[in-house]
Amino acid sequence: MTFESLGLHPQILKALTDAGYTQPTPVQQEAVPAAIAGRDLMVSSQTGSGKTAAFMLPALNKFANEPVEARAGKTPNQHAQAARSRGERPRFMPAQPKMLVLTPTRELALQVTTATDKYGTHMRRIKAASILGGMPYPKQMQLLARNPEILVATPGRLIDHMESGKIDFSKLEMLVLDEADRMLDMGFIEDIELIVSRTPATRQTLLFSATLDGMVGNIARRITTDPLRIQIAGASSRHENIEQRVHFVDDLLHKNRLLDHLLRDTAIEQAVVFTATKRDADQIADRLSIAGFAAAALHGDMHQGARNRTLNALRSGQLRVLVATDVAARGIDVPGITHVFNYDLPKFAEDYVHRIGRTGRAGRNGMAISLVNHAEGVHVKRIERLTKQTIPVDVIAGFEPKKTASTRSRPGWKPGDGRGKPAKPGKPGQRTFAKPGAPGKDGGYRGQRDSRSAEGRRG
Ligand code: AMP
Repeated sequence: MTFESLGLHPQILKALTDAGYTQPTPVQQEAVPAAIAGRDLMVSSQTGSGKTAAFMLPALNKFANEPVEARAGKTPNQHAQAARSRGERPRFMPAQPKMLVLTPTRELALQVTTATDKYGTHMRRIKAASILGGMPYPKQMQLLARNPEILVATPGRLIDHMESGKIDFSKLEMLVLDEADRMLDMGFIEDIELIVSRTPATRQTLLFSATLDGMVGNIARRITTDPLRIQIAGASSRHENIEQRVHFVDDLLHKNRLLDHLLRDTAIEQAVVFTATKRDADQIADRLSIAGFAAAALHGDMHQGARNRTLNALRSGQLRVLVATDVAARGIDVPGITHVFNYDLPKFAEDYVHRIGRTGRAGRNGMAISLVNHAEGVHVKRIERLTKQTIPVDVIAGFEPKKTASTRSRPGWKPGDGRGKPAKPGKPGQRTFAKPGAPGKDGGYRGQRDSRSAEGRRG
């Protein structure tokens, strides 16, 4: 199937060619024609599947087929000037977007806005703006004053502007909920319902989520009309292009030594190391920087400017190791990320799938390595049940856990069940150059979890 056969406008086809896309991904093949035909959609698909284009291409296509003047209208500033030239006092005009994309995090919102600019690059006067927590209000007022057709927003800040009359959704034609499951996890349900209640019932609604079960399914059914359900199964959720490994560790010292060792693998272009807490993210990034790695932390306690600088450094390749918490790293799409490390396993198995999806982007291969305490075997099991995959256990010579397989408390794990691998002393290509000594000083402090709701609320 080709993009031409999806019925897209030539201006969009040109942008897709520029982007190097040769054919639509499975979610695009199903979602784009249905959305162009005006259907509401409930789509289950993962990040990395091409879902942003799956909702943005139909929206841009709609705009591309409208006369520019009718679409873009006057900006609030132009209204003010026109009023002044008539000798009238300018009335305040709120922004009246035609499309709204709600995302759980600022990073994802920025990424969607960047993708929109990319896909709409050959269109005349198409404007997309991100409305995010952490961004200075004057800057956002400037963006809104341009009356953008497309708003990409995190719910909290959007509601601030909505309640103060800066945004009016009465002209909204298309509403997209991106990573809806995540937004509900982060406690945004009431915010979403409030925003939806301010939009016209005639709108087209597209909901994207890793899962359509439970609460997401309920809200999806409530806010869509006769939706087409698209389920993209298979490779993307199973991440078949990503090799996965578990390393058992005895304690924090062992974990830190092993992480340092693994990070010296020259096959790593860029890596994301996930931690459970913001404090650990900071401490590990500091420790790795001192050890000579180009490393930095990313978490929700950082100001948006610092977060953007870190992400830009990652994108430009200045940064080799990003140490991040779940919420902050969500949606990161950097092709150079070859490896993901779980310094801590995530609390929820679904987050494991999201985390490892930071590597193996756009059809590349990736490697995901989890450093696991013996007592965490049960979490590994949960992940394996979710992904329906067995994660092989790896052992590196010089870094063997002291506890033997038979003393591991990993339920269901039996010595010789084929899941463990013997140590590979001196295997060619093995990373033997890292010195097992000189561990960093991770005091082992376990700070507060980077709570999704706390961080998300700031979004
Ligand atoms: P997403 O799932 O929207 O986060 O997209 C994941 C990655 O796939 C992004 O880097 C996109 O630029 C890329 N991508 C999306 N659609 C295509 C396509 N049809 N061909 C090649 N790459 C794509």
